[in-house]
Amino acid sequence: MVYRVRYFVVLGLCLGVVTVAAGCGSIKKSLSKTKPYFLAKEEPWRQSEEFVCVRSGDVRRSAFIVPRSRIDGPSFCGAEYPLKVSALDHGRVRMSPGATLRCPMVPAIEKWIREVVQPASYRHFNQPVRDMNVISSYSCRPQNNRHGARLSEHGYANAIDIAKFTLAGGQTIDIKKSWRGRSSESFFLKEIHRGACRIFYTVLGPNYDKNHYNHFHFDLARHGRFGTKRICK
Ligand SMILES: [Zn+2]
Repeated sequence: MVYRVRYFVVLGLCLGVVTVAAGCGSIKKSLSKTKPYFLAKEEPWRQSEEFVCVRSGDVRRSAFIVPRSRIDGPSFCGAEYPLKVSALDHGRVRMSPGATLRCPMVPAIEKWIREVVQPASYRHFNQPVRDMNVISSYSCRPQNNRHGARLSEHGYANAIDIAKFTLAGGQTIDIKKSWRGRSSESFFLKEIHRGACRIFYTVLGPNYDKNHYNHFHFDLARHGRFGTKRICK
């Protein structure tokens, strides 16, 4: 199978997108002078998964979930039916600021809130979480902002980064400050991180690397030969 690989090249102020067949000598030669900003390949499952989610009716438009216009590139970045999500669980849990996500991420985050976050919050603090601080959702960039790496799941609006949680009573639990140690906050964070691993396909936290010292990263990327492998770190 020959994948069509799109190299997204940033040259100073000049943005350029070049579509080539993988292994094309002339293009390799022209790109050898400049490392591409990120690498991405066509993955048809992304569009079909998004379409199935939209058609399923699982995600309904509301005051908190509003469709926005198609994001078409650059390169493979974007989504056909992106959603602006400002709250979940019928508006009971705010997303601050609102996140731009593709459809399958919405029920996944909602499931995590209902089945993992709120039960843990009641157990540790006897009250629910009311607000989640989102530090990244859609963003067309390479993984870890590393020039030349693969396109991040954020580039497909298929990922979210969450840094803080605010309880109904106003207390804020900050991953950067509370991840380590043996406080209730630390146990709460470790529990909801672990619980995310049965819902999302990639779960990264402060134990993964220094880029994640202050947040959880969740996405629904397919991993492994059959797309069924999970990453939980
Ligand atoms: Zn992330």
